[in-house]
Amino acid sequence: MTTEIYLDSNATSVVLPAAIEAATDVMRQRYGNPSSTHATGLQAKAILDEARACAVRLLGVGNGRLMFNSGATEGIQTSVLSALVSLRERRDAGEAIGSLLVYGATEHKAVPESLAHWNRLLGLNLTLHKLPVDHDGAHSLQALREVALQAAMVCTMAANNETGVVSDLAGIASVLAASKALWMVDCVQALGKLKLDLSSTRIDYAPFSGHKLYAPKGIGMLYVRTGAPFTPLIMGGGQEGGQRSGTENMAGIAALGAVLSALERGDTFRSNEELHSFRARLAESLRAALPGVVFNNPFDKCLPTTLNFAVPGLSSRELMDVFDAAQVRVSAGSACSSSKAAPSYVLDAMGLPLWRSAGAIRMSFGPLADEATIAAACKRIERCGEALRASCLIPSERPAAPHDGLLQLGVEGACSWMVLDAASRSCIVIDPLPDHVARIESYVRCQGYKVQAIVSTLPNAGRAMLIDALGRHFNHHTEADEYGCPLQAASITLANGASAGTIALGAQVLACVHCGTGDELRAYLLGTPQGTVLPAASVRFAFSARPAQQALRAVSVEQTLLCPTRDEHNQFCTIAAPVTALAADAQLDSRALEAFLQAHPDARLVDVREPYEFAATVAPSPAGRAALSVPLGRLAEFASEWLRAEQTPLVFFCRSGNRSMKAAQCLRRLGHQHAYSLNGGLALAPPLPLAA
Ligand code: PLP
Repeated sequence: MTTEIYLDSNATSVVLPAAIEAATDVMRQRYGNPSSTHATGLQAKAILDEARACAVRLLGVGNGRLMFNSGATEGIQTSVLSALVSLRERRDAGEAIGSLLVYGATEHKAVPESLAHWNRLLGLNLTLHKLPVDHDGAHSLQALREVALQAAMVCTMAANNETGVVSDLAGIASVLAASKALWMVDCVQALGKLKLDLSSTRIDYAPFSGHKLYAPKGIGMLYVRTGAPFTPLIMGGGQEGGQRSGTENMAGIAALGAVLSALERGDTFRSNEELHSFRARLAESLRAALPGVVFNNPFDKCLPTTLNFAVPGLSSRELMDVFDAAQVRVSAGSACSSSKAAPSYVLDAMGLPLWRSAGAIRMSFGPLADEATIAAACKRIERCGEALRASCLIPSERPAAPHDGLLQLGVEGACSWMVLDAASRSCIVIDPLPDHVARIESYVRCQGYKVQAIVSTLPNAGRAMLIDALGRHFNHHTEADEYGCPLQAASITLANGASAGTIALGAQVLACVHCGTGDELRAYLLGTPQGTVLPAASVRFAFSARPAQQALRAVSVEQTLLCPTRDEHNQFCTIAAPVTALAADAQLDSRALEAFLQAHPDARLVDVREPYEFAATVAPSPAGRAALSVPLGRLAEFASEWLRAEQTPLVFFCRSGNRSMKAAQCLRRLGHQHAYSLNGGLALAPPLPLAA
């Protein structure tokens, strides 16, 4: 079994071994320029001609043009340029050309962007018109009918990259029968998955891309119907019959030729039935592992190789992270927007609610998928479900192991804190944010905690919503003021002699301190009392808005960790006198790590990814050493321990090196001089043998 299970084939695919061989052969042996007339050139030309002839047969090109280029984005440019240049010429000659450039609402961004670009550059000033799709992602033929006679160009795709929804090309063709519009069909996701006989259709332009079907990146093809207007995008040495200049990408063409030839032979790829059964098995595993999962794409109207789903209560980021930890590569919405985790415009166009569109995950495989990979993927999906259950992110029948200490929940710079006591199964929430209500509620319910109090640093700061959501998990018996502090609280004497009301939590207390110029702010000190006194040295944590931190100096010590209610810069926690200069040696790459661990056998490896990522992980920790799981939300708790003990070196790591760098910076700021981050994270660490 390979470590990685690649289920992101709609973004790009692995390269077919025969394609690698063909490309290697072209680079090693048959490296000629197909324009040269000597024997070496003629050998290269034979490869080029063979690949084209195969494409012509396979796609039913007939007498149309079939040129090789760099990929679909280039093919789309050439199609749009060709159509728009001809439209401008016809309009200049006094012909009515229509006023609209129509494109499907779910097209790849390359389509509307190219239309807008060339429309502006050529001074055509036609109107871009988005064609709506229905709930299933199919183009509205009625809406097309309404604009067909005004359309100068129509762009629709054969199958969608995010959902796999297959377009009704025959239906579109019949609506366009009476229209003079030029028609481009983006066939990128259709290659090798849908039968195409282009010259028998009304389609004028059809771009293709090699890297979506087992050829390398940087090679594509464009079909242009006989008689359809054509303008080269690239002029020069006249290659490709003058249609696309520039010395041919022979390695890419040979590789694509090998894929096309395998398609034509029909002996390499899975049948449609097999692909349908693979998808059914993945869907079944997802249903079993992720309760409430909903599929965003109608399977009966889609390519069998694409699943698009969302899970109530889980963001696409969380799902992506847990799958990535289990080494199952999927994408959030479309690959281009995955770093932003923005809602998918494709799913938005289908009218799906925001949670499904913003929480979408796409799982896609290719027609080369095999039985063993699908079976392994199902097992890993099961593992991801278990990891999410154990972290209380999805409902579970078994209560999760309770946590002790602090938990920080952050959102867009603001944060809530939870103080947890596992022994008494009780906790206190500080400054809950509306965005965290559902998360806190499910966490408390899943771990079987009772919330003793919900306190805030400002009066009446949104506690009611959480109290409602918690129901019986909240201690309703204590009357509280507008900050949530009990009215009948036992009081304690602080280091400055002032007295403060307290909330007991196991052996510790949370003391409510009045601060701000008019006493309008509250701060909270967490520590272990000595009788009726809370000495400054016993205060481990102080929770407050930043302006109030100064006022806490008299009741805490320099080692007290200040936990803010806003954390825009991901500092997690600070101390009264932070160390500002950060040493430049805080980053270790994986090679330096080996040497570092040999020099410091006592060093601790700390995994700062979320607990569900830790639990789902299949690869061993860096350098094969056991790691401690300390997600960033629990960093303050652990930092307090590490600072008190003798300073052993700490090496933080995560997936990419981003979160671990923040952790190392936090520890260094707090005065721990031996905190490091693994640069590049697990993604760039050398692979070690599989743990599971
Ligand atoms: N069209 C569709 C439907 C796609 O999925 C993609 C790739 O994501 C493209 C166009 C762009 O293709 P290329 O990467 O070859 O430029």
